Amino acid sequence: MNKLIDGKAIAATIHEEVRQEIKRIGGRGPSLAFLLVGDNPASESYVRAKKRACALTGITSILRTFPSSLKEMDLLAEIERLACDPSVDGVLVQLPLPPYIDETRIMCALDPEKDVDGFHPLNMGKLMRGIEGGFIPCTPLGIRELLLRSNIEISGKHALIIGRSNIVGKPLAALLMQKREGGNATVTVAHSHSQNLSSIARSADLLIAAVGKKGFVTAEMVKKGAVVIDVGIHHSSEGICGDVDFAGVAPLASHITPVPGGVGPMTIAMLLKNTLLSYKRRVMIHPDEKT
Ligand code: NAD
Repeated sequence: MNKLIDGKAIAATIHEEVRQEIKRIGGRGPSLAFLLVGDNPASESYVRAKKRACALTGITSILRTFPSSLKEMDLLAEIERLACDPSVDGVLVQLPLPPYIDETRIMCALDPEKDVDGFHPLNMGKLMRGIEGGFIPCTPLGIRELLLRSNIEISGKHALIIGRSNIVGKPLAALLMQKREGGNATVTVAHSHSQNLSSIARSADLLIAAVGKKGFVTAEMVKKGAVVIDVGIHHSSEGICGDVDFAGVAPLASHITPVPGGVGPMTIAMLLKNTLLSYKRRVMIHPDEKT
């Protein structure tokens, strides 16, 4: 099905681009530190996948694991230590954190110049203001890259994002409305208090589902010819699926991402790109601001 947007293949191309670029630059190579608190199996598996991708592209990864009883001040101390370590280019705190740790305080403690996940308020602020040079969160960045590399027109289109989280919905809205290539969309953000969602959705040229509810987007919500991007990840006895009822929606869509193999691999690919960008800045090689 040529309407299928193959995130796995696009991500593999990006991995190879990153690998070649790291080889070309030389030097010590980029390094990325993962901080993993507790024993959430999904978080452990995401970190494993990210570390594997680092190893394949020439990024050194450092894993710091902590028990779920870790005190917030000890996590803050580790973040401070990594901020001062000149051999570390990126620091990623795997979310979610245990409920007694204040996620906002942790994000604010990161060095914005090593914040390759783009969640520090300075980086989120730069994205909102359209200032180049900050780090952009990996999932929204990966979605824009998927659209651009699939030659999907974004400018002037009505993009509906279902979900307003800090890691997907909000930064994606800012990205798609930016006045630059890959932006200029008319963006609507829907959330749990939105009314008449089906009718709003039927007017969308580009529908991005980041709801966290299995099969939430059904055929009744999709305009014929719309582009449908599924961010959701749900593990069930039948395997992994997304927020979109793929079988019902795919016949209507002009393009659609599968789950797995759509947005997920792009999130990892963008993490590699952001880490490379940080390394380039650190070793004073001209940064590629288009990243
Ligand atoms: P979240 O739980 O933080 O946010 C969900 C959003 O959906 C909220 O803003 C909420 O207002 C909205 N929502 C809930 N019910 C709704 C309804 N009935 N109508 C409209 N909006 C509704 O989730 P998140 O962290 O943004 O993640 C969303 C999904 O994407 C999850 O399945 C998550 O696992 C997945 N995810 C995937 C990747 C990836 O790389 N593919 C990355 C991040 C998150």
